[in-house]
Amino acid sequence: MKQIIVIAFAASTILSLLLNNNQPVHGQNTKPTVTIYQPAADIEAYLAQQFCSTQLCVEADWQQWLHISPKHPWTIDDLRMINHILTSTIEVLEKEGVDGRSLLSGYKFRRQHGEYIQGHPGRIAVINHTRQEIILADAAFLRLRGFSIYHELGHAVDARMKRQLTAEFHTLIGSDMVNRQTAVGFWMNQRSQNDLEEATADAFALWIITTYEDGYRPVFVGTPLDTHFEGIVKTFETALLNSQE
Ligand SMILES: [Zn+2]
Repeated sequence: MKQIIVIAFAASTILSLLLNNNQPVHGQNTKPTVTIYQPAADIEAYLAQQFCSTQLCVEADWQQWLHISPKHPWTIDDLRMINHILTSTIEVLEKEGVDGRSLLSGYKFRRQHGEYIQGHPGRIAVINHTRQEIILADAAFLRLRGFSIYHELGHAVDARMKRQLTAEFHTLIGSDMVNRQTAVGFWMNQRSQNDLEEATADAFALWIITTYEDGYRPVFVGTPLDTHFEGIVKTFETALLNSQE
């Protein structure tokens, strides 16, 4: 019991130091006050009443999916979009017999303001598998119906399937596995031309979005005119089925 009190005291001291880093902490008469971050009332209400209502949160509350703090502020629109993206991804995977909720469990979204991710020039979304987090900049919410967010979820699914998805997809489309060149006609984004996992994540994003919006064709800088969008979607679906066998 004594140990628990000591640990709790130490934790609360560290917390108050962290939360009061602008105030003097060494003065004997200084009594740091602990301020726990509270999201704005409308965000709090949305998180408490709606975010999890589609059975999105099985293990915990919304905290299962989101990092929210003063440093990582979200808007209601961001949260609605993440909710839609997660829900649609899990639904589409479920139709193929894949338990997306369990597969993605552990990964969390972090929000960063600015057009691009700090330290990643030109990138609007980044996944870190070690920390199991997906960091999103402003543009991730604004461009191509959130394509880059689905793309990062594709990386998460592929990682959890031990890259079996990438192996199956590229075998089916006939990519050059030795030189890691994606087969002609099966990539949309220049980064995917020489990166097999990138092409898989793009195929994943296209597959989910076109399930809801048949015929959707995202165009990036350098997307070849002969990109076989329908072929990408169909082959990806087969690759996913093969990966489960
Ligand atoms: Zn990627």
